[in-house]
Amino acid sequence: MNALLQIDGLQVFYGGSQALFGVELEVREGQAVALLGRNGMGKTTTIHALCRMLPSRAQTLRFAGRDLRSLSSYQVARLGVGLVPEGRRCFPNLTVTENLIAAARPGAWTLERVQEFFPRLGERENQYAATLSGGEQQMLAIGRALMTNPRLLVLDEATEGLAPVIRSEIWAAIAALKQEGLSILLVDKSLADLLPLSDHCVVLERGRTVWQGPPEGIEEEVKTQYLGL
Ligand code: ATP
Repeated sequence: MNALLQIDGLQVFYGGSQALFGVELEVREGQAVALLGRNGMGKTTTIHALCRMLPSRAQTLRFAGRDLRSLSSYQVARLGVGLVPEGRRCFPNLTVTENLIAAARPGAWTLERVQEFFPRLGERENQYAATLSGGEQQMLAIGRALMTNPRLLVLDEATEGLAPVIRSEIWAAIAALKQEGLSILLVDKSLADLLPLSDHCVVLERGRTVWQGPPEGIEEEVKTQYLGL
């Protein structure tokens, strides 16, 4: 089976300093893949390179049968990569509904369906995004990505800085999306929440893929050496 997303030999430089030295990563249709590694190991850089928000070199950078290497970030989004970026990044001076509509592309996810999925976004439809709580902003960021009707949802630290009860809500939402067959690439510090939801894990260390496999196969050595557990 061909992978939905396939990355091989991914390299990224920030000026003269190399951040990625050959990342390998694959997401198959319907899989949830966890991208793991301690702080600064290259997870966000990998996501930005995949979304073509950063210049990169790669042997393979393919999504849905298309070579992404010459595409712009806009074109990658149009192909169906829905990014929920670290820090949420909604338009603060637009209302909740305006934020959602701005992202809309045809498909099963409509404004009504997103409001049904996150009722809070319906209740707060006319509120400016800037006035939402952190958890509501995160729901809005996920709702916006869903409005693009993505084939792959990419979540970078979706639960960071949120209260435990809101984090549980976000995890439940992610589990529901996986349940309905959406392919997901996830970065999160909370491995206790992340691993049970993941079909496959990819561990980065200093910009390289050093281990990959199913979550139940992560050896103690990998946990202590690369994940700081
Ligand atoms: P975290 O969990 O802390 O978000 P990460 O695994 O996502 O970490 P990255 O943010 O991708 O890691 O960083 C990878 C490396 O690239 C780090 O050494 C970091 O210092 C460096 N880096 C990231 N962004 C920049 C930048 N804009 N300019 C220069 N170096 C950067």
